[in-house]
Amino acid sequence: MKILVINAGSSSLKYQLMDMQQEKVLAKGICERIGIAGSRLKQESDRSEYIVEKPMETHADAILMVTDALLDKENGVIASMSEIAAVGHRVVHGGEFFKSSVIIDDKVKEAIDVCSGLAPLHNPPNLIGIKACEKAMPNVPMVAVFDTAFHQTMPAEAYLYALPYEVYEKHKIRKYGFHGTSHKYVAQRASQMLDRPIESLNLITCHLGNGSSVTAIKGGKSVDTSMGFTPLAGVVMGTRSGMIDPAIVPYLMENEDMSLQDINNLLNKQSGVLGISGVSSDFRDIDGAAEEGNERAQLALEVFAYSIRKYIGQYTAIMGGVDAIIFTAGIGENNFKMRMSILKGLDGVGITIDEEKNNVRGQEIDVSAVDAKVKTLVIPTNEELMIALDTQKLVSK
Ligand code: AMP
Repeated sequence: MKILVINAGSSSLKYQLMDMQQEKVLAKGICERIGIAGSRLKQESDRSEYIVEKPMETHADAILMVTDALLDKENGVIASMSEIAAVGHRVVHGGEFFKSSVIIDDKVKEAIDVCSGLAPLHNPPNLIGIKACEKAMPNVPMVAVFDTAFHQTMPAEAYLYALPYEVYEKHKIRKYGFHGTSHKYVAQRASQMLDRPIESLNLITCHLGNGSSVTAIKGGKSVDTSMGFTPLAGVVMGTRSGMIDPAIVPYLMENEDMSLQDINNLLNKQSGVLGISGVSSDFRDIDGAAEEGNERAQLALEVFAYSIRKYIGQYTAIMGGVDAIIFTAGIGENNFKMRMSILKGLDGVGITIDEEKNNVRGQEIDVSAVDAKVKTLVIPTNEELMIALDTQKLVSK
């Protein structure tokens, strides 16, 4: 079975065509600058790196470019559209409607539209991507896989904010959590690596990239996660502040004469390790600056590590212990110094890593010290595979 995975953003559309028998990526690509001058498609496969520069006014144009590229005589990987059994769509926000992935019908599209209020930058392009695919492939089943769905198992004590209850009822303001597909994938891989049923495990998964979140997973279910009503909450990130005292917002608005838009910009785009270091949001740049003696860069690294270490402590407490800590995404997979730094001083609770084993990038590996009570695993994430697997499961039913 071949499954096409689509991740539609506001001006881009990423895709992967997967062969599910071998769990192999046949082709992957991106359409960039949709609706903007200079749009192009770039596709990689075993056959070639294929670039097509052509105007794409809409996502519907982009999907047609994708199907043309997949079918292309010289660069394509399929001979006919009938080879695509189903399409899996990444959808950011499923609100309280979706606790798992679903086959897309009119009701599902309506609910995704309702959730647009909660994710105005993401859900509308996700929906446009779905509609464009339906038009291009009218008889192919489509599945929606939500970033929020995995966290719908959180108990009320974890997801409710201590605001008047009516605020939750009226506006659905609560913790939703994000990166769910990634947390779920690495938790399943961890259970396979440890050769233990997921039902028996307490896991803390650290998805550390430009956006970062930490999740407590008990018996395979998300019981708490660091991101909240939006992906701004939780740990310190590349440009996002993570958790701050909410009273800072009115204080700055009053004393710096800032508008709501200024504040949003400050918290989302100018904060995090970029804000503290003044160097960059990319950890490679910050590491470099710190090595050259830049004190604010060093401080940014320490604040980041500290914010994650604190979540590891909280989540160990709420689950009554932890069996494994998992690192994934750009920083989690590649930045071995940061992994060491995050786990510094946790030997007392049985989390010890082997420095030599830990000295790797982008590999699936157990980096725990031999005598560690708690395992530390590095697991490259694969959200596209997770989306394809969910899609396969649903359409095969
Ligand atoms: P992501 O959002 O998952 O792509 O992660 C982006 C972050 O991962 C950036 O801060 C990068 O510094 C870091 N990163 C990505 N690749 C590497 C690498 N090969 N070595 C060190 N850091 C990396």
